[in-house]
Amino acid sequence: MDFKELRDFMVKTQLIPRGIKDERVLNAMKKVPRHLFIDESIQNMAYDDMALSIGEGQTISQPYMVAVMTELLELKGNEKVLEIGTGSGYQTAILAELAKDVYTVERVALLANRVEERFHSLGYNNIHIKVGDGTLGWSEEAPFDRIIITAGTPRIPTPLIEQLSEEGIIIAPVGDRFSQQLLKVRKSKGKLLEDYHTPCVFVPLIGEHGWKGEG
Ligand code: SAM
Repeated sequence: MDFKELRDFMVKTQLIPRGIKDERVLNAMKKVPRHLFIDESIQNMAYDDMALSIGEGQTISQPYMVAVMTELLELKGNEKVLEIGTGSGYQTAILAELAKDVYTVERVALLANRVEERFHSLGYNNIHIKVGDGTLGWSEEAPFDRIIITAGTPRIPTPLIEQLSEEGIIIAPVGDRFSQQLLKVRKSKGKLLEDYHTPCVFVPLIGEHGWKGEG
């Protein structure tokens, strides 16, 4: 299977027609091998227009959703980014292509361990990972220029707003347990400017400032 060709086709048919314009984002989506972030048995579906299972009841996000969220972050290359919900590490790798440093927090230790090896073998040395409740952020490394939450949450966790730098941006799927909308928040002169975007469906963000349990 020619995965490079499938990636180019994905960008051409799933991302550009739906309005993704940032050339840096499109190039990162053409470059990062999504098939290496999922189990070998489903690699033939790696560039399909859908989220896929990564085990532990979790998913790798749909390519379009990864592209939209990344574009909304307005990355120029110098940013320190915090990601909550590492999952397969695919979104993390896209961020690592486009920002200076990426700090990523995953609640499920098994997923985090798997991903650490993956980042190493793909040669990413600007990704820092920790296991824990990402709704608390990563206070030792704050402030962050950008924060991305890749699980559905009833609200943006307060610690994350506190750990966002002035003129920083947070992107998160906000809503109920079964459907959300992407919310973009910009911190500007001490105020929070909010803007709602694409509807979406994510697995829940479980933690002290997210949903309380699996059920
Ligand atoms: N962006 C990821 C990718 O491309 O593979 C997909 C992330 S998946 C939709 C959501 C992830 O958030 C899951 O791996 C889940 O375990 C994790 N998660 C849920 N609650 C969390 C929390 N409080 N802190 C950190 N990770 C959390």
